[in-house]
Amino acid sequence: MTATQPSHAVTGPALRKALGRFVSGVTVVTTGHADSEDGIHGMTANAFTSVSLDPPLVLISIATKAKMDARIAENGRYGVSILRREQEPVSLHFAGGKPCPDQVRFVERGGVPLLDGALVHLACTVYDSHPAGDHTLHVGHVDELWSCHGDPLVFFTGDFRALELVRDDAPWGF
Ligand code: FAD
Repeated sequence: MTATQPSHAVTGPALRKALGRFVSGVTVVTTGHADSEDGIHGMTANAFTSVSLDPPLVLISIATKAKMDARIAENGRYGVSILRREQEPVSLHFAGGKPCPDQVRFVERGGVPLLDGALVHLACTVYDSHPAGDHTLHVGHVDELWSCHGDPLVFFTGDFRALELVRDDAPWGF
């Protein structure tokens, strides 16, 4: 970036475009119970991040207008499923896009629903919730986790991508 480039006005579209250059994975956040009156609710979210190792905390940022926001507040628990590269159709389904009900299967683990076939499952209890503009930050205590090998689904500049390694896939060393 050169010093002569003008700054952009901080509008919603400019912010989305700039922040869309920050690469993320894709998750489906889930809450509820299959046998409860309201059932299970899921939604696609990429505003997910790690927060703390001790205690083990993660954070999801959920739009206040999303049904998920009230459902998490009611239930006090949520699941995070980090999606595999092959799960793009499922991520569109849970974002209100093209439905693929045949590919939607939940498993219950640690007392929360999770999406079958994901790379990582986290079962969380709400630790704290903070209003933040038009979103709520739901900090979750990770009660249980399950993790397996595979390639993640990646989101960048408003579209889905696959991860390309620049070197050999070396062990992490931890
Ligand atoms: P709805 O829009 O009613 O539900 C979402 C979809 O999931 C619907 O199609 C519904 O049919 C389906 N669904 C829900 N429960 C079930 C079930 N039990 N069985 C089968 N289908 C079900 N928004 C944010 O607030 N934060 C984010 O971090 C975020 N990240 C996103 C990342 C990506 C890549 C995309 C594409 C969207 C993201 N969104 C995010 C937008 C968000 O996913 C949508 O606005 C979503 O529609 C909001 O869901 P909702 O809770 O309002 O419920």
